[in-house]
Amino acid sequence: MQIGELEIHLFTDGITHVDAGGPFGLVPRALYEKYFEPDPLNRVPMTLISMVIRSRGKTILVDTGLGTKLNPREIEFWRLERPGGGLVRELASKGIFPEDVDIVVNTHLHSDHCGGNTIRIGDRIRATFPNATYLVQRMEWADFANPDPRTRGTYLDENFTPLLETGQVRLLHGGTALSEEVQCVVTPGHTRGHQSVLLKSGDWRGLFVGDLASYSILMSRTSWLTAYDVDPLENLSTKQIWQEWALENDAWLFFPHDPTMPVARLRNDNGRLGLDAVEEAQELIAFAPIRRQPGG
Ligand SMILES: [Zn+2]
Repeated sequence: MQIGELEIHLFTDGITHVDAGGPFGLVPRALYEKYFEPDPLNRVPMTLISMVIRSRGKTILVDTGLGTKLNPREIEFWRLERPGGGLVRELASKGIFPEDVDIVVNTHLHSDHCGGNTIRIGDRIRATFPNATYLVQRMEWADFANPDPRTRGTYLDENFTPLLETGQVRLLHGGTALSEEVQCVVTPGHTRGHQSVLLKSGDWRGLFVGDLASYSILMSRTSWLTAYDVDPLENLSTKQIWQEWALENDAWLFFPHDPTMPVARLRNDNGRLGLDAVEEAQELIAFAPIRRQPGG
């Protein structure tokens, strides 16, 4: 889809099914099940969405899904399905090949956002995108390099360390412009060094939200926080800042895990926030089914 000088596409690395206690944390089931009805094992669907942005001749990929280095036990754990064949296959279906990617932005280094950074070839791990520079916040890398018992299971060396060794990483110190239209912005809370990607074209504004709000409903319900947030209160206040920005700019918000409403605008109904799916964005998702959400 073309928006002024910007070209944007959404892809998925597949869809997972995770215990609802993860994405909905302390939110009572009676509230969230109106939006995501868990299956009999209490699992809810979680899409792995990546964005490709073309701006000023650069091809930028935001987040890379779980990737292909998973063993059968991990595939079973995630209940991973790949109707589109996975990220690299989906990119190729639009004529985007790994060597075409100039920049990879990782919102953060949890394995469902950077697993596709690297691939296993024989017994070696290599960059999936051989010509790309990979961008991550320095704070995120510091936490990745020094995991604690809570983050150790998701900060996996193989997803990032090999890129440091080949000199393909640029660590960012805070907000960073990638072009006139594309900017990394720090959105702390889910992790301390989490970043989102801000898009501008004329008066149009967009934000690849990342896990600041994995699902659209987590953006409109300020107090709904995931169990994965390292610093929940920080995430809450970051969310409030971007809620205000989104309302002021009537921005398109791109959510990384939402199978039913991956692109939405926020609206303010007399102080209560709601969501409207962005109908024009339906063409952006090749393989994820888009359904309307009840209420909002
Ligand atoms: Zn995530």
